[in-house]
Amino acid sequence: KSAFKNIKTLPPMGVSHLTNLFQEDKNDNKVNLGVGVYRTEENQPYMLPVVKKCALELVENPDLNFEYLPVLGNPEFTKAATELILGKDCKAIKEKRIVGVQTISGSGALRIAVEFISQHLKKRTCYMSNPTWKNHSLILKQAGFKTLKGYPYWNASKRNIDIPKLLAALNEAKQGDVILLQPSAHNPTGMDPTKRQWKQIAQVIKERNLFPFFDVAYQGFATGDPDRDTWAVRYFVKEGIETLIAQSFSKNMGLYNERVGNLIVVLKDAKHFEAVASQFTIIIRTNYSNPPAFCSRVVAKLLTDEHNKKEWLKTIGEMVDRIKKMRKTLTKKLKELETPGTWDHIEKQRGMFSFLGLPPNQCDKLLKEKHIYLLNSGRINVCGLNLNNIDYVAKSIDEVVR
Ligand code: PMP
Repeated sequence: KSAFKNIKTLPPMGVSHLTNLFQEDKNDNKVNLGVGVYRTEENQPYMLPVVKKCALELVENPDLNFEYLPVLGNPEFTKAATELILGKDCKAIKEKRIVGVQTISGSGALRIAVEFISQHLKKRTCYMSNPTWKNHSLILKQAGFKTLKGYPYWNASKRNIDIPKLLAALNEAKQGDVILLQPSAHNPTGMDPTKRQWKQIAQVIKERNLFPFFDVAYQGFATGDPDRDTWAVRYFVKEGIETLIAQSFSKNMGLYNERVGNLIVVLKDAKHFEAVASQFTIIIRTNYSNPPAFCSRVVAKLLTDEHNKKEWLKTIGEMVDRIKKMRKTLTKKLKELETPGTWDHIEKQRGMFSFLGLPPNQCDKLLKEKHIYLLNSGRINVCGLNLNNIDYVAKSIDEVVR
């Protein structure tokens, strides 16, 4: 008898299942608005020119080798990545109150952060926005969190963030509870709190001694300016709040499959640096020993050279402009069709995603009858839209809504 006889098959998981269905679909009109990846106007994957340039230069460097990195990663990369989130003049960086750990992209940063929070900070309860990225709850559970709670975020009738309810939920959290926050270009709603609202959130967190944990997967995609996009994180750090920050370069450098990420631990006191760094060393050593080097070098080369960085910022600006144009066009077309409901939220939302506000049965119809692939929650990847398919998408939404 097989040792595997009692293993249960889980249902197909996540957005990759949707991608598989899309690939199998033979319909000529099919549109993929599922997986969160950037697409050009020609519906093609995008390699950022400056990323390619840096990678080619590195390959051609005669000194290149593939020796192991230190367990906590490439120090030049973690420094540059940390500065990108916190700003070069961050006091916590100057006071050496920061531990930076290179990770297997954003997901890996979340995973090792949660292991640390659960094993060493002994936390058991985490609040996440309702809704949030599906993998958040899976990672938290898998890495030891017993109680997962949602804080209200999306107000379905107003198609906006429900700040009063969000604050009320935080006010009921218990001292030490972990609060998972996305600072900009929230997945899946595309709605972020304003500065004033972030200040209110920070105040409750501080007063009630809660533990904020940031997930930064879309820096640059909200406003086109990476500095502006992490305003909230910088504010919390300035307020002297301890936190962990998971950072991904999948989207903003188009390095999806290279798995480049960083985890930032912000301490109140530099004297805890050694202990914290040593615990991350063992977590990583017993998981995968040390991270891959190549694209950490690409990111470091890009961020530490003024010209490269300038070119990157320009490209991000262009990507964000294209997304904004698609938001505007879709809103306009739905209004022209007099589709029942309000559609201004699509234009107002930011980042890759739009939360259309369609109920699951209408999303299901879009998928099954119109061959438009989106999440059942009503989330679309706006990058999947282009001038060739946007009329079809608008007309299809119009038909399923009526
Ligand atoms: N956090 C959020 C909110 C995300 O949407 C994603 C990507 N879909 C990630 C983290 C992690 O992405 P990656 O592991 O590719 O960095």
